[in-house]
Amino acid sequence: MKNSKKLIAGMSVVTGALLILTIVLMFTIGPWKKASTKTSDVRSPRKTSDMESDDPDEETGDPKEPGQSSALISGGEWTASDEDPWDDPETSEPVDTTEDTEETTSETKETTEESTEETTEETTEETTAETTPEPETSSETEPSRAPSHSGGSYDLSGMVIVIDPGHQRHANSDQEPVAPWSDETKAKVSAGTSGVATGRPEYEVVLEIGLRMRDTLEAMGATVIMTRTSNDVDISNIERANIAVENDADVFLRLHCDASDSSSARGIGVFVCSRGELADSQVKWGDWLGNCLADATGSKYRGCSASTTYSGLNWATSVPSFLLEMGFMTNSDDDWLLSDPDYQQLLCDGVAAFCSKMKNR
Ligand SMILES: [Zn+2]
Repeated sequence: MKNSKKLIAGMSVVTGALLILTIVLMFTIGPWKKASTKTSDVRSPRKTSDMESDDPDEETGDPKEPGQSSALISGGEWTASDEDPWDDPETSEPVDTTEDTEETTSETKETTEESTEETTEETTEETTAETTPEPETSSETEPSRAPSHSGGSYDLSGMVIVIDPGHQRHANSDQEPVAPWSDETKAKVSAGTSGVATGRPEYEVVLEIGLRMRDTLEAMGATVIMTRTSNDVDISNIERANIAVENDADVFLRLHCDASDSSSARGIGVFVCSRGELADSQVKWGDWLGNCLADATGSKYRGCSASTTYSGLNWATSVPSFLLEMGFMTNSDDDWLLSDPDYQQLLCDGVAAFCSKMKNR
């Protein structure tokens, strides 16, 4: 009896010891497990913060309200396009040069050529590496460079789009009224600018892009009417506007390239008419256009400006009309991009996205 009692006591001591050992082990292993779970989760919060660091101006989900844009315009970001005599797309009248574009353009100063390469490299990596759900390095150097609509297709059937590649080989300084409501006159067609790096004239570059745009939009079912398909024409700004009006265009797009005294000025700008039956919507639509283009190209959208400066817009207020400054030929990076077929296609993709938005508005 004594022996069996001793045995039972011995066994319970062993069992107790084992129990304590198990509990101790559970406590020590537990935290390890938690720690290892934590390390595997570390990446997601980092990504979120990377995304937050993106330039809010590049947001494209919802277009800016007209009010915000007005603030932009009156806030002074907007004289850049008017700040150089060259860059008035229609005439050479000198305008306000007081505003500072350095500040706004410095954000987009990084070389876009490099970033385009980076983006394509990242896209390739993305498809091969299963564990990398999105490009990460781009957010460190170029927060807004990944084109999201590139190559997207839209149903544009039923739409009439009039494309006016600005200028022509030979300017025409004969005068015509700047607006139906004005006695003021302006040159029929101005010479436009030229590229600091490529040396190419604006009229040639915008026609090249315009023809590509026509092909892109037609492939999506749109009816596209060009105001010109050659550089050797003589068509005034009023005559160009009339082509849009007579065809009752759903979108009238005037293609231009910008110029500035500041070689660092870059990016995309939109101009609309501040008068007429569509004036209340024009700035909102202009922002759609600018944001679609920024989204497709990764370039900076500078804002939409409404005025009565441009005769080609003033004479086409019955249809949605936009003067699009696609980039600065006085900036060598923008200049190279504007002649780059891949970049030209991104511009066309952005316009296609915009037309789709206009169709479904
Ligand atoms: Zn121009």
